[in-house]
Amino acid sequence: MEIKQEEIIPFRVFVRVRPMSEKEKAIRAEKITRSEDSIIWVREQRGNFIKENSYAFDKVFTERSENLKIYREELKSLVEDVCNGLNGTCFAYGMTGAGKTHTMLGSSSTFKQEKGVVYIAVDDCITSMTNKRCDFVLKLSYLEIYNEHVRDLLGSGENLMVVEDPLKGVIIPNLREFEITSSAEAKEIIDSGNSIRVMASTAANQFSTRSHAILQLSLEQSQKDKNIVSSVFTSKLCLIDLAGSERAASTENRGQRMIEGANINRSLLALGNCINILSDCNKRGKFIPYRDSKLTRILKESLGGNTQTIMIACISPSSSALEETLNTLKYAERARNI
Ligand code: ADP
Ligand code: MG
Repeated sequence: MEIKQEEIIPFRVFVRVRPMSEKEKAIRAEKITRSEDSIIWVREQRGNFIKENSYAFDKVFTERSENLKIYREELKSLVEDVCNGLNGTCFAYGMTGAGKTHTMLGSSSTFKQEKGVVYIAVDDCITSMTNKRCDFVLKLSYLEIYNEHVRDLLGSGENLMVVEDPLKGVIIPNLREFEITSSAEAKEIIDSGNSIRVMASTAANQFSTRSHAILQLSLEQSQKDKNIVSSVFTSKLCLIDLAGSERAASTENRGQRMIEGANINRSLLALGNCINILSDCNKRGKFIPYRDSKLTRILKESLGGNTQTIMIACISPSSSALEETLNTLKYAERARNI
């Protein structure tokens, strides 16, 4: 087994533009984005004055790109690397309604149904490992961070602690891990976790998801030489559906919702700060503030080091989402400052 350490490009950032929603069409919102390969332009109109700003990423996926295309073009190699012993992390970022859950977990409408990249990745991982000539164990865990509390989506629902062990690194005692051997088994487990994810309604979106969901697939593989185990590799694939990035103030939130908003932003801010340092060669060796939020503490070993990270910044093409789209693109651009 070869580990391709030098070839890793640690961070890749993609933008995904979703199609106009019925609601946006109903208010006659205008499409303000256009893209070509890796560049996206956003049109801003203030009175008679129109300006168009461009932003560059590793690739921009348009309204017509489906999950399977995004998986094949960009995520498949990440999963292959995980099967070869490296760590991989992929997260979806963006405001509520921008398409994060559609990307990660899929969604269905009356017109079409799309499988999320999480399911495609897990299936692909099982298939590649089955085809390899080695023994392997695949385990799945699924948790959510809601209001800076960690909850097992596959467990009984109590708050979990995040502990830093001097030998094992960051661990979450009592987090359940299920061994999976088939894609049907994996699907059942992931679906059961999804069904208990916290849903709360806000003015921005009736079914907005205010939690970060982290699915971790850990892979242990051993190679045998004449029945003697010669080497054991462990690697991890981490797939994250982040909470909405909209600011608490802009969604008419009060009370409990406001506290959630502040905590969500704390995690996203901390994530942005960590990624910004990790993705900048000039900042190598600089202190990385993983401890600033639960999200970054948990992701400590799934960001940087021998981990390849992909960020999918999801946006709406609509004029009504202009401000949040600009915020998302700026956040994503910071992650790409290499
Ligand atoms: P988020 O998780 O970012 O809040 P969702 O993924 O739930 O947003 O998307 C909001 C709505 O838009 C859902 O009804 C979803 O089905 C739809 N949607 C999002 N992205 C796409 C896409 N690429 N193609 C078709 N429908 C989409
Ligand atoms: Mg969602």
